[in-house]
Amino acid sequence: MIEIKGLLESSLIEWEGKIAAVVFLPNCNFRCPWCHVPDLAFEPERLETISFSHLKRLAKTQQGWLDGVVISGGEPTTHRKLPQFIEKVRKLGLPVKLETNGNYPALLRTLIAEKLIASVAMDIKNRVDAGQTLYDKSCGVKVDIGKIKESISLLVESGIDCEFRTTVVPGFVDEEDVKKIAELISPLTKKYILQQFSPQHAFKKELRETIPYSPEVITKMVASVRSLIPEVSSR
Ligand code: SF4
Repeated sequence: MIEIKGLLESSLIEWEGKIAAVVFLPNCNFRCPWCHVPDLAFEPERLETISFSHLKRLAKTQQGWLDGVVISGGEPTTHRKLPQFIEKVRKLGLPVKLETNGNYPALLRTLIAEKLIASVAMDIKNRVDAGQTLYDKSCGVKVDIGKIKESISLLVESGIDCEFRTTVVPGFVDEEDVKKIAELISPLTKKYILQQFSPQHAFKKELRETIPYSPEVITKMVASVRSLIPEVSSR
């Protein structure tokens, strides 16, 4: 069974309008230079494993108060047994939201078709119209952009509650890139979130010295795409 490597007992921000526990699963197939959870993603053996019974107890003691469970990572879809894991979580009586980098559309399709997940948040690391190199640079590995596009289309066509997110990192994602991403997803979605970059624990040491965009710059980015996506926000 998949090991749980982190558990946030309650969050008000990961699933809009809900109080959710957040479960962190290990491993990731990307190597984003700004990844803020490198231990979890690349060296999970260094982290303690949290038993599933801990989550079970939480669901029981917080019954009627907890609205759902967000499954995050790392990248949850790197685990082939994710459907079985989600099934187990759902048996606790809680709906599941999945956070993903969108690299495995086939597994995403299964999860949606089998109605295992109620909501999805997908990271879009950069614009996909500028060719492979830019997306690869942002992910730190070679990525099949076709799969990223397939996941975006799949999420929207399925009608599942979904949101797209981009972490805005100086030197990687600027206002023009945000506009291009918004143009791509605007006919398809209403929800887009720009995430502030957190340098302290960045995977690549050189990024730990990078100064994040100021709140004013991020507010300007949000404003610049509001006409395309009304429900754009930042955090
Ligand atoms: S930030 Fe990138 S490398 Fe880190 S967990 Fe997310 S997708 Fe993986």
